[in-house]
Amino acid sequence: MDLGIAGKKALVTAASKGLGRACAMSLAAEGVELTITARTVGPLEETAEEIRKLTGATVHTLAADIATEEGREATLGACPNPDILVNNAGGPPPGDFRDWDRDVWIAALDANMLSPIFMIKATVDGMIERKFGRIVNITSGAVKAPIEVLGLSNGARTGLTGFCAGLARKTVRHNVTLNAILPGPFDTDRLSATLEGAARAAGKSVAEITEERRASNPAGRFGDPAEFGDLCAFICSAQAGYITGQNLLIDGGGYPGTF
Ligand code: NAP
Repeated sequence: MDLGIAGKKALVTAASKGLGRACAMSLAAEGVELTITARTVGPLEETAEEIRKLTGATVHTLAADIATEEGREATLGACPNPDILVNNAGGPPPGDFRDWDRDVWIAALDANMLSPIFMIKATVDGMIERKFGRIVNITSGAVKAPIEVLGLSNGARTGLTGFCAGLARKTVRHNVTLNAILPGPFDTDRLSATLEGAARAAGKSVAEITEERRASNPAGRFGDPAEFGDLCAFICSAQAGYITGQNLLIDGGGYPGTF
């Protein structure tokens, strides 16, 4: 299927690795011009080069921390008028809420709630004027089924989700959609770090915990980031203009509810 977005400009934040990288790759494969960001220059440039080699797409890069105001200003300077915005950032650390003071909460809110809201604020009116826009927030399955040790993530991402639910109904009339994709366990560096933490807490080996988690997913495996990237590209497609305000789980059936 031709997704009808060749020549559009996409800004994908936090995209040198994992799910952000996969979204960038799938969009590039559709002929989209990319700007990708991350904090660390080396892996960012490597990813950009690989995307160029595999897809022939134009890829601009910017090393910046999307959780800071300066980082967002620089990011928007590199791509002021995106047609497609994929909001991503690293996830907050796991832990016990008794240990989290105000600064810890503010850091989580900055990265996983306020940063995407400010990125949307800076770009959505241009999309409305141009009569095309696709905004995708990478959040987490924890928005639908909270993960106790990820209380910072549960809280910050649900705040973002509530805000976007209201805005999504205002923009769709102008062919500007706003959706979230909620990953279950995907095979990325973030998942490895989470599994290491879980193994330490359970007094088990990382291999043991990894096998348990893999087997407990209805699909019997972790997700491949490329599967996530392709879903993102479809949500950003010309054909997806009637999908807005949705929270799309991609988790191998891990969420146990009927709806
Ligand atoms: P990952 O493999 O660790 O990759 C994270 C990417 O984000 C890297 O490119 C990293 O590069 C960049 N990044 C992190 N913080 C940033 C910041 N402040 N500013 C700019 N770039 C930043 O993580 P992932 O698994 O793809 O996860 C992506 C998001 O999905 C996270 O929020 C994660 O919590 C969430 N999630 C993931 C899973 C999963 O199973 N993988 C499940 C649920 C939710 P630098 O470090 O160089 O900046």
